[in-house]
Amino acid sequence: MENIKEVILCKFGEVVLKGTNRGTFEAQLLRDVKRRAKLIGNYNVRCAQSTVYIEPKDEAAEAALDAMYAQMGKVFGFAGLCRAASCEKNLEAILETAKAYLPDQMRGVKTFKCESKRSDKMFPLSSPELSGEVGGAILEAMPHLTVNLYEPEVVVRIEIRDEYAYIHAGQDRGAGGMPLGSAGKGLLLLSGGIDSPVAGYMMMKRGMEVDCVHFESFPYTSEAAHEKVMQLAAELTEYCGKIKVHVISLTHIQEELRDNCEEDYFTLLLRRFMMKLASRVAAEQNCHVLVTGESLGQVASQTLKALCVTDDAATCPVFRPLIGMDKEEIIRISRQIGTFDTSILPYDDCCTVFTPRHPRTQPELEKVVAEEAKVDVESLLDEAWGTRTTEVFYQEI
Ligand code: ATP
Ligand code: MG
Repeated sequence: MENIKEVILCKFGEVVLKGTNRGTFEAQLLRDVKRRAKLIGNYNVRCAQSTVYIEPKDEAAEAALDAMYAQMGKVFGFAGLCRAASCEKNLEAILETAKAYLPDQMRGVKTFKCESKRSDKMFPLSSPELSGEVGGAILEAMPHLTVNLYEPEVVVRIEIRDEYAYIHAGQDRGAGGMPLGSAGKGLLLLSGGIDSPVAGYMMMKRGMEVDCVHFESFPYTSEAAHEKVMQLAAELTEYCGKIKVHVISLTHIQEELRDNCEEDYFTLLLRRFMMKLASRVAAEQNCHVLVTGESLGQVASQTLKALCVTDDAATCPVFRPLIGMDKEEIIRISRQIGTFDTSILPYDDCCTVFTPRHPRTQPELEKVVAEEAKVDVESLLDEAWGTRTTEVFYQEI
C-alpha cells in the first residue's frame, strides 16, 4: 500500500475508570508499550484521549507492524486494539485513504457499515454525513459490498482525532487487565506443572509484578526438570518482560521428613516447608503475597482442610487465582498463553518424590504440627535457605 501511513491504536480498558491515580496507571502502561516497541523497531509512542498511538518511524518499523501488533495484544490494560490508516483531517484525504486502504482489510467481506466519531468538533461534516461519504467511497471501490446497518460483518470506523483522521475496519480485543506494575509485587510458587504458570499469568494480568520461587530436589529431580521450569519462566516474560526465579533445594528436608515423620503427612509437611521458605523469599524480595496454582479439591493437598494447614505455615497472605477453576479451564488458558506444551513435558517435580500412598485429605492442624516437630524445622529451613540461587530472564523476540 503505497503512501498509506498505517498505525496501531490501543484503547484503554479499566484504566479509564481510575480517578486521580490515572496518570500513574497510564505511565505504567506506556512503559510496557515502549519496552516492547524497542524490541521490535523504531516507533513513536504517544498517548491521548484514552488511546495509545503507535506510529512507525521508518520502513523497517512499518514492515514489522504485524509483530508490533501481536505484542500490543499482550499488554495488560488495553481493552481493544486495531490497525488503522492515518491521514490529514480533510474529506478528500479521508476518502482517498479509505479507498486505498480498506480493500485489503475487507477481503472476503460482503456487508459493512460506517461509523464516525469526531473528537475534533471543528471538523466541518457531522458524523452521519462523514459516514455517508466514506460509505459511498467504499461502495465505489468495492462494488460487490452492500451496506447492512443492523448486522454488518465489518464496522468501518472513521475517527477524527486531535492531529489526524484514522480509518479502520474492525478492532480486536486487548489483553484486558491492569497495567503491569500497578498492583505491587507477589511471589509465585512455580512448579513444572500446568497450573502455576497460569496462576502467575492471572496475577500479572491484574497488574502484579511477579517473582518466582522454585523448589527442587536433586538428585531425585533431574536437570531436565529444572530446565523445564526455567523455560516456563522464560515463556512468562512474554507478558511481564522480566522475571526472577529463586531456586531452593528441598533434598535434605524431604529425606528428613521421609525418615522421621508419618508417611501420610509427607506431602502436607513438604508444602508447609515450601510456604515457610517462600515467605522468607517474599520478605527478602519485598513481595507482599504468595501466589500458587492450587485449585480447590484438585488433589489431596488441595482440600479445604489441607489448604488451611498449608496456609498456616505462610507468614504472608496466599493468593490462589485458580481456586475456583476446573482443570479444563486452566488448560484452556495455559494453551492460550503458550505454556501448555512445556508444562506437559514429562519430568518429575519434587512433589512426586516419596509421595504417600494414602495422603491425608482431612488433616487436623495440631496433628500436622506435631508431626512437623519430629524434625528440626528451623535448622532445616536455614540449611535450605543456604542453597538458594537466582536466575533472571528477559523477554526475547
Ligand atoms: P501445577 O499445579 O503447577 O500444575 P502440580 O499440579 O504438579 O503443578 P501441585 O502439586 O498441584 O502442583 O502443587 C500446587 C501448587 O504448589 C503449584 O501450583 C505451585 O504453585 C506450588 N508448587 C508445587 N510444586 C512446586 C515446586 N516444586 N516449586 C514451587 N512451587 C511448587
Ligand atoms: Mg496443580
